Amino acid sequence: MTHLPTTIQESLQRGWKELDVIFVTGDAYIDHPAFGTALLARLLESEGLRVGIIAQPDWKNKDAFKVLGRPRLFFAVTAGAMDSMVAHYTPSRKIRRDDAYTPGNSHGARPNRATIVYTSGCKAAYRDVPVVIGGIEASLRRFAQYDFWEDKVRRSLIFDSKADLLVFGMGERPLLELVRRLQSGESFQGITDLKGAAVVARAADLSGSIELPSFEAVSSDKKLYAEAFRLASLEQNPYAGKALMQPHGDRFLLCNPPALPLPEAEMDQIYALPFTRLPHPSYKEPIPAWEQIKTSITTHRGCAGGCAFCAITSHQGKFIQSRSEKSVLAEIERVAGERWAHGSISDIGGPTANMFGVSCKAPDQGHSCRRESCLYPAICRNLDLADAKSAGLLRKARSVKGVKHTAVSSGVRFDLLLRQKGYFDELASHQVGGLLKVAPEHLVDSVTRVMRKPGGRAFAEFLEMFRQKSREAGKRQAVVPYLISGHPGCTLSDMVDLALKLKELGLKVEQVQDFTPTPGTLSTCIYYTGLDPFSGETVYVPRGEKEKKLQKSLLLAHLPENRKSVMEALRLCGREREAGRLLAVYSGAVTSRSRN
Ligand code: SF4
Repeated sequence: MTHLPTTIQESLQRGWKELDVIFVTGDAYIDHPAFGTALLARLLESEGLRVGIIAQPDWKNKDAFKVLGRPRLFFAVTAGAMDSMVAHYTPSRKIRRDDAYTPGNSHGARPNRATIVYTSGCKAAYRDVPVVIGGIEASLRRFAQYDFWEDKVRRSLIFDSKADLLVFGMGERPLLELVRRLQSGESFQGITDLKGAAVVARAADLSGSIELPSFEAVSSDKKLYAEAFRLASLEQNPYAGKALMQPHGDRFLLCNPPALPLPEAEMDQIYALPFTRLPHPSYKEPIPAWEQIKTSITTHRGCAGGCAFCAITSHQGKFIQSRSEKSVLAEIERVAGERWAHGSISDIGGPTANMFGVSCKAPDQGHSCRRESCLYPAICRNLDLADAKSAGLLRKARSVKGVKHTAVSSGVRFDLLLRQKGYFDELASHQVGGLLKVAPEHLVDSVTRVMRKPGGRAFAEFLEMFRQKSREAGKRQAVVPYLISGHPGCTLSDMVDLALKLKELGLKVEQVQDFTPTPGTLSTCIYYTGLDPFSGETVYVPRGEKEKKLQKSLLLAHLPENRKSVMEALRLCGREREAGRLLAVYSGAVTSRSRN
């Protein structure tokens, strides 16, 4: 097995004088199925296409986009695994110094707004070669969207980048259909009806589509922005969603419905492709993202949760697409046998580990269902949470040949665990490795309602059961609670309540995630408009840097350097009398951690 070519020499070694598709990506090239570029490139290769990869090109040099020559069909451009602005800036808009997707963890290997810059580089190199954009940046910016870094609404990325086609969601189906239609002689410009893709359309192509308020309207009227968000959300079911149209000036964005989910057999085929699982050999320095995922196994994709701040449901969809047990176990055996794996499997999971095998047991209803989440406001009675398959998979994984150790390090939904006893037992007894990551995000119900997360009661119940199961298994284990400060709907007083609840639960937080309004999420819509787009109700939004800092400091009240901020926060919400309780919080309490 070798990597796909990144130079003409590597291309010629394969006997390829010309490439059909060239991927351009903002991440280093790691030939591992956890990376979208590698996965899609291997898929097209398996279809008989000649595929090359330009990773992290020097975008100031237009020859950087010519290193593999002119592609016969198209360039496929992505900013990488993260939106380039999220990758570059902290929640307080300060430049990050690191980049986990770059050799040596160094910053600066990709530009801001990488999709726009790379598309322009491809067009400057070969003006008449079509450019397809995709990945999380394109997906979540497919409609006119609020941009936190410029504090304004930007046009759909297809207009700003001048790309020819925008693929959203998971790219397998749209890309395969695109190449098959191009190979059969259709013109690129004539392909406007691809599911999972958006185009700049002529008026004649718009019939049957639902019109969203225009870019100009949503830029100047927040109520119309919220309405556009609501209308678009209702059409995200891949089986029943309708095409959406959004005027931009005198032109039109046409966004087709999402691509259909992949069935198990196709998921298995994709993960059986001949990945080397390694960074390209030209890299000299370690790449943190690879170190983190090199021995992890993806069991499924999609998330039924629909948390307001998270891009996964919008990008991967709410329908869970699982692999077969046989396919997962075969991959575990392959990885465990690698010299660099040392028999250790660091993660058996997905966006939410315990959603492996979860499905809608009423497909007729599911296929016409307009709920954005199967879990909110309550777990849908049609959601099949049977856990025999997922618990069995974890159990069998432990006895695969060559495996010395397995773990689940993806996040889990604790409210589902309460209904998945077999999985919960296996997890607590064998798969935690000391620390279990869970994401309550908050524990005050008025805030978790805005976030679309389960409330504090379910978390307390989960914690008690986890501790009991750990005791029964004779293990010293703790949870790592992920928490967010500064989220829409959260006041200073809510943060005081959260800090006190954590104390009651015996949890100490070391790091807190400050809310970032990332493109295209429900939370970002609420942040920008101050409205819940579904109920029309006004929502409180903490905006100023000062309040955000105070909110964060309340969760880190045990740190001496936060004492002043904590006192100020308590004074501002009239709760100075609780200072003693709050500041005496954590002596002797169980220590837990959270992300930064
Ligand atoms: S019917 Fe229920 S389980 Fe099925 S897709 Fe809709 S919300 Fe999800």
